[in-house]
Amino acid sequence: MTSIYQYSKEELTSLLEGQPSYRVEQLWHGLWNEARHIDEITTIPKALRTSLVEQFPDSLRVVNDVASDHGATRKWVFQLDGGATIETVLMHYDDRVTVCVSSQAGCAMGCTFCATGQAGFSGQLSVGQVIEQVMFATRAAAPSRLSNVVFMGMGEPLANYAVTVEVVRRLHGYRGLSARHLTVSTVGVAPAIERLANEGLPLTLAVSLHAANDETRNELVPLNRRYPLERLHQACATWIERTGRRLSFEWALIDGVNDTDRAMDELADYAQSLSAHVNLIPLNPTPGYLVMGSSAQRVHEFRDGLLERGVNATVRNTRGRSIAAACGQLAQVTNAKRRTIPVRAG
Ligand code: SAH
Ligand code: SF4
Repeated sequence: MTSIYQYSKEELTSLLEGQPSYRVEQLWHGLWNEARHIDEITTIPKALRTSLVEQFPDSLRVVNDVASDHGATRKWVFQLDGGATIETVLMHYDDRVTVCVSSQAGCAMGCTFCATGQAGFSGQLSVGQVIEQVMFATRAAAPSRLSNVVFMGMGEPLANYAVTVEVVRRLHGYRGLSARHLTVSTVGVAPAIERLANEGLPLTLAVSLHAANDETRNELVPLNRRYPLERLHQACATWIERTGRRLSFEWALIDGVNDTDRAMDELADYAQSLSAHVNLIPLNPTPGYLVMGSSAQRVHEFRDGLLERGVNATVRNTRGRSIAAACGQLAQVTNAKRRTIPVRAG
């Protein structure tokens, strides 16, 4: 079953051959400018809407819908054809409304502290499935305007490269979102970062660093064995040089693992050499990783230490923990293999 959002304007126009061109325009305007479901595009006659819904059925089926933070955070679990589930999180802030989308069903990268990594990979998402998440959240956010899209849900966006690139192009070209409002977060697939740097895409890049020495990063992020810190550094430098944009590093603070003074020095050196911003995330609990997150006091000390070392650092506030919607907590509950991974401290 294929979502109508799978198609570019040209493709949709040819699929609707026989319809007058103003109908295609009405449909396109309803879908993209107004983010309406086909059935709600009332400029189109009801009979035609019904047949379009049959021709282009929704690719996401809501199986769970939960809210927290007094309604400011909402999470949906969607089931795809074939049974896999993905999760999408909508967050209302004072100054913006952000949707966090999944780029894959599960993730093959196996980061030890991440619930998605613990559960494993079950499939790639299509362009239509990622855009449908954005449109679904846009409708749910109304009357507020959904302003930001972050690829920080399930999956590694650069391991679904062509889809990620096409979704960003369309959100920019068809929906008018700018680079400041589109963020792709990657675990550090170095060659893909370099390729992305040459696409001329309007987007902000965030790299999940979590450790700035190879020994610790190998433990937390297995992909580091393939693209160690020096290789990643090269890719980040290429990104900055080609795009002229800053990048940010994400760092989930884990008690005794990457919140020590030594870790702070290593991070400060690495970030400074790339003039990167650091986003600190207090570690959110997951079933397969038993080390605790750093205390709130240590999180703030760590931030202050980075600031003293001349690094621009902020603490990301933790949304949606009570509904398992916070960073790293998204998992396919049905398939979750709960494993315990021993981690060396220090
Ligand atoms: N695969 C991509 C994007 C999805 S993860 C990536 O890894 O960047 C989004 C962010 O949540 C990443 O920075 C990831 O490292 C972080 N994260 C994963 N597990 C976490 C946890 N348990 N607590 C806090 N942040 C976590
Ligand atoms: Fe995948 Fe990102 Fe989780 Fe690592 S942190 S397992 S790359 S989703």
